[in-house]
Amino acid sequence: MAKTIVKDKLNRPLRDLRISVIDRCNFRCQYCMPAEIFGPDFAFLPKSELLSYEEIERLAKNFVSLGVEKIRLTGGEPLMRKDMPKLVKMLSNIEGLKDIGLTTNGVLLPKHAKDLKEAGLKRVNISLDSLDDELFGKINGRNVGVKPVLKGIEAAKEAGLGVKINMVVKKGLNDSEIVPMAKFCKDNGLQLRFIEYMDVGSTNGWKMDEVVTKKEIYDILKDHYLLEPVDPDYFGEVAKRYRYKGTDVDVGFITSVSESFCSSCTRSRLSANGQIFTCLFNGEGHDLKEFMRKGATDKEITDRIIAIWNGREDRYSDERTEQTIASRKKIEMSYIGG
Ligand code: SAM
Ligand code: SF4
Ligand code: SF4
Repeated sequence: MAKTIVKDKLNRPLRDLRISVIDRCNFRCQYCMPAEIFGPDFAFLPKSELLSYEEIERLAKNFVSLGVEKIRLTGGEPLMRKDMPKLVKMLSNIEGLKDIGLTTNGVLLPKHAKDLKEAGLKRVNISLDSLDDELFGKINGRNVGVKPVLKGIEAAKEAGLGVKINMVVKKGLNDSEIVPMAKFCKDNGLQLRFIEYMDVGSTNGWKMDEVVTKKEIYDILKDHYLLEPVDPDYFGEVAKRYRYKGTDVDVGFITSVSESFCSSCTRSRLSANGQIFTCLFNGEGHDLKEFMRKGATDKEITDRIIAIWNGREDRYSDERTEQTIASRKKIEMSYIGG
């Protein structure tokens, strides 16, 4: 398929697409969907507002024709959407798409891992913030213990999926779990990615002093392990990686707060209701769903995506200050995925 290369105002190409397939979740992680806000009366998107799989496939094809090589499926909890292997299969047939990944809390993986792999999924990122049942239950807001996630990890490995573990670290909450999580992942040959707690959305009450920075985590780890830096695999690789010396196991850091990486950010995001966001910290998206449902042709859709990307100048993390944090309206993480 002939590809048009699209660049934004800061010369960044469009390479990645994250697709949120659902805004609902079976967890209420306090840093993402706090239970006090996302309670029984919370108005989630009605089904008619969600993009159908055919609509997602069509938009994905348009994005791939503009240079997107990787798609990550996310949510909310993507495995709560019915028949995800069907969507994976549809996407894996898109010519020119090199990679499909999925980010999940892992609980539903024992049920779906094998079918997802057979449908063409390559990799999963599984979120796990603690190995302590009580603490993990408190973080996920649903009192779910660690075991269901560990079973999900096992199921993914057995199915032959690549597995990475995501751990968001919040000061005073789970920083005590940095070393146990590192040990668990190292012993099990799993790449752990420590994620700095971010000021996404406006419901999690984020404060700068609750962020545990990469440097702080690294300093804790280096008292226990010998780490050597690993070169990035490709332009725009988000995680800064190290290897436990003498092993082939990596550990990575997503340093969105302490060392921003906007200059190489090639990611676009499609919300569950078909809006494009060009930055995780946008307040509003560009609606493609209505445009498509009103009969836009593929050419009109790609022209619209090109115009949106050409006009992009987002670099929120580069510019983050107390003032931007307080004044900016931002979309919730569960709406556009991580
Ligand atoms: N439900 C799936 C999961 O938890 O893996 C996918 C969606 S979740 C929004 C994607 C990733 O974003 C997860 O790894 C989660 O831990 C991370 N995340 C959510 N809120 C965050 C925040 N405020 N700061 C940093 N990472 C966050
Ligand atoms: Fe759900 Fe994932 Fe958000 Fe946790 S981080 S509440 S699992 S969407
Ligand atoms: Fe990309 Fe926005 Fe994050 Fe910067 S702040 S890396 S532009 S998503």
